[in-house]
Amino acid sequence: MSLNKVSVDDIDVKGKRVLCRCDFNVPLKEGKITDENRLVAALPTIKKLIADGGKVILCSHLGKPKGEPKPELSLAPVAARLTELLGQEVKFAADPEVVGPNAKAAVEAMQDGEVILLENTRYRIEETKNGEAFSKDLASLCDIFVNDAFGTAHRAHCSNVGVSELVDTAAVGYLMQKEIDFLGNAVENPVRPFVAILGGAKVADKLNVISNLLEKCDTLIIGGGMAYTFLKAQGNEIGNSLVDDTKLDYCKEMIEKAEKLGKKLLLPIDSATITAFPNPIDAPVDVEMYDSNNMPADREGCDIGPKTAEMFAEAVKSAKTVVWNGPMGVFENPTLAAGTIAVAKALAETDATTIIGGGDSAAAVNQLGFGDKMSHISTGGGASLEFLEGKELPGVAAATNK
Ligand code: ATP
Repeated sequence: MSLNKVSVDDIDVKGKRVLCRCDFNVPLKEGKITDENRLVAALPTIKKLIADGGKVILCSHLGKPKGEPKPELSLAPVAARLTELLGQEVKFAADPEVVGPNAKAAVEAMQDGEVILLENTRYRIEETKNGEAFSKDLASLCDIFVNDAFGTAHRAHCSNVGVSELVDTAAVGYLMQKEIDFLGNAVENPVRPFVAILGGAKVADKLNVISNLLEKCDTLIIGGGMAYTFLKAQGNEIGNSLVDDTKLDYCKEMIEKAEKLGKKLLLPIDSATITAFPNPIDAPVDVEMYDSNNMPADREGCDIGPKTAEMFAEAVKSAKTVVWNGPMGVFENPTLAAGTIAVAKALAETDATTIIGGGDSAAAVNQLGFGDKMSHISTGGGASLEFLEGKELPGVAAATNK
């Protein structure tokens, strides 16, 4: 899919102040970054801007400080790690108001090819409301804007949409392009058979994704907690499993839609069940396997069973394109992670183009060490889901057209 937007390859940044919105929203534990995939994914664009002689001003949000400075959500650790990853100093412009005296002075003093990082954009209350004052502050710092933050592309905030509207050129970065290329090609122009796999807790979260993907894919696989509402809608006995009774009609509709379109819809045929939800989540559990159409009233399905895992893996084997979003079970518990691991393994072993839709599934694939076996792991869970729903992403739409 070609993105008809001005990209970093189309602009001349030499000697210019370039504000580059990245997604540095990384998990932190006691000030340490525990997963730096998003930082690594941002490097190609940053390196390109440096090499072309831009004055590179990076910005991002981190967590949800809700419009006020929260020291534990400062981007300072990110500046330090980026300095190491780039092999050149990334100066941190600490300002509680993000674009304050420190940031302005730091930008003023920049030489071509230097890099600074602004403070967490969500320290400003306007950020998530796309309020004009902060967008203007950001625009005042730069000559050109580059948006490489796919992870926030489904939101219209100051640091992606607001600022884009106030600058002459708002280009997209390499990561943004790559994400849209992979997800866009998979959905709009897939090499077939195209198998989509959805999991996670709730059907209600993925209504539009299910409906849209059914139209685009050849086989839709549904696992995780959301499968049980489908199974109940088919009249199966699902015991005490997670169910959304308000969505039974929706599930029936989707089952009919699949039939009408001649698409395969695969649901679990067996389940790993427990009687009490683990607390803490990784506490030992007593698992018994049951067929998914006949589960005892006191048992809760918390993972796909081995027969299902085999069936899903078989479907993946013959696929040419696979998109996966959402775990197959309560994968945080080692005993209930087998289904998610089996699907991850099937994806790692296939020659198909494999795309992981971010969030939990991305974390699971990386933790299992299968990261480099996938064609693409999206850096944006929510953004990739909205993309799979067929929605236009405001962060992309706001960029300058070619
Ligand atoms: P992703 O992050 O990959 O986009 P997601 O975050 O959208 O996926 P969620 O809907 O948040 O997925 O669901 C993930 C949660 O679903 C996990 O915490 C997992 O424990 C839980 N889950 C999965 N299967 C079940 C199940 N059978 N019963 C209860 N909870 C489940």
